[in-house]
Amino acid sequence: MKISIVGSGYVGLVTGACLAELGFRVILVDVVLDKVEKINKGISPVYEEGLDRMLRKNVGNGRLHATTHLEKAVNGTVVTFICVGTPSRKSGEIDLSQVTGAASAIGKSLKNKKGFHTVVVKSSVVPGTTENVVAPLLEKNSGMKAGKDFGVAMNPEFLREGRAVEDFMNPDRIVIGAMDQVSSEALERLYSKFRCPVLKTTPGTAEMIKYASNAMLATKISFVNEIGNLCKKLGIDTYEVAEGMGRDSRIGRQFLDSGIGYGGSCFPKDVRAISAVSRRKGISLHVLESVEDVNNEQPMKMIELLRKRMPVLRNKTVAVLGLSFKPGTDDIREAPSLRIVKALVAGGAKVKAHDPQAMENFKKVFRKVEYCGSTEDALESADACLLLTEWPEYKELEDSDFKQMRGKIIIEGRRILDSKKVKKFEGICW
Ligand code: NAD
Repeated sequence: MKISIVGSGYVGLVTGACLAELGFRVILVDVVLDKVEKINKGISPVYEEGLDRMLRKNVGNGRLHATTHLEKAVNGTVVTFICVGTPSRKSGEIDLSQVTGAASAIGKSLKNKKGFHTVVVKSSVVPGTTENVVAPLLEKNSGMKAGKDFGVAMNPEFLREGRAVEDFMNPDRIVIGAMDQVSSEALERLYSKFRCPVLKTTPGTAEMIKYASNAMLATKISFVNEIGNLCKKLGIDTYEVAEGMGRDSRIGRQFLDSGIGYGGSCFPKDVRAISAVSRRKGISLHVLESVEDVNNEQPMKMIELLRKRMPVLRNKTVAVLGLSFKPGTDDIREAPSLRIVKALVAGGAKVKAHDPQAMENFKKVFRKVEYCGSTEDALESADACLLLTEWPEYKELEDSDFKQMRGKIIIEGRRILDSKKVKKFEGICW
C-alpha cells in the first residue's frame, strides 16, 4: 500500500517514518521547502529519539521521500493522511485553516485520479469536523461522492512527543472512525502488525475519544498539582501520596507527578477546544475550565517562590535549566518555561538558559536571554537557579555543580534533584 502524508510536522513525520519502517512506501508532503529538503537528506527537522536513524534508513532504501507537490503525492498513492496543525484561535476554538486548505487541495487532486482513494484525518479535530467539514470539502473540490467514489476516515494519533517513535510502534489502541467499509479495512491492513485492540467507530466518536483522552490526562495533572500545592502547605510529600494513590489500579501512577503544569502542542489547545465546543452547545465543562485555570497559575508559583527569597529581580541573574515542555523533545509550544522566562525578563532579571535540545526554538521567542552550551555556564555567577524540565542530565546534578553560583537559591519545578546529592533546594510542591 502506498501512502501519502500531508503535513510533515511531529505527527506526520513520525507517522511517515514508522510506516516506511513497517514496509510501506510513503510520500511526505509539506509546504515548507526547508523541511522537505532536510527529510530528503535523512535529517529530521525536529528532535525525536530514533527518528534520524529511521529517516536515514528509509530515505536511503527509497521507501520514504518528501515533496512540496501534493497532487503528485496523492496521485501516486492510495491512502492520504491529513497531519497538519490545528492550533488554537484566541477564542479557544481550533483554527481549521490548515485542515481545510489540505482537504481542498487533496479534493482537487482526486479529480483526475484513477482508482479508489482513502483520505484519513489524523490531525486532532473537534467532533463533527471529518464528516461536516473535511468530507464536504473533498466532495466539492473533486466533484465526487464520499463513501462511493472515495473513502474518508478519522484515525486519531495518541503518540507522546519525546517518545513518539516508540509510541507509534507500540500503541495501546488503534481507533478507526471510517465513513465507509473500504477505508476501515485499508486502515486495519495498515496497522495489522500491531498487537493492540482496534476500536472501530464513527468519525465523530473517534474525534471525541482523542479529545476526551487528552482532557482526562490534563485533568490528572491539574488535580495532582492542586494536591501538591496543599501537600506543600501541610508538610506532606506529594510524591509519596502519588505512590500510595497510584497503587490503586483504578487510579494508576502515571500523570501523578506534581510540578509546574502541562504544556506542549496538545493538552492546552485540546482542553480549550473541547471547552469551546461545549460552550457553543450551551454547556459549561466546569471541571475542564478549572483544569485550565490551575494550569495557568501553576508556573507562576515558581516566580512566587523565587520572589519570597529574592524580592527584587532587577539586575539579578537567574539560571533556567530546561526550556522544552518535557524532556526528549525540542518543542517549546506552550511550555511553562515561556511564561516563567517572560516574568523573569519583565522583572528585570538577567536570564541564563540551558536546554539540551530546545534552545534554537527558544531563541526565536526570546533574543535577550543568554543561551549557554552547558549547565556549568548557565550556573556560573547566577543568583538563583530554576529547574523547569526533567532532562535526565539534570538528575545527575550535585552540590559541586551549583558551587559556581553567586547565590544559594535553587528551586525545582519537576521532582528531579536528588536530596542525597544536593543539600539545599526547594520544590514547587515539596
Ligand atoms: P506541526 O505544526 O508540527 O506540523 C504541521 C505541519 O503541517 C507543518 O510542518 C506545516 O508546515 C504543515 N502544513 C500545514 N499546512 C499544510 C498543507 N496545506 N500542505 C502540506 N503541509 C502543510 O503539528 P503536529 O505537532 O505534527 O500536529 C499535527 C496534528 O496532530 C495536530 O492536530 C495535533 O493536535 C495532532 N497531534 C499532535 C501530537 C503531538 O505530540 N505533536 C500528538 C497527537 C496528535
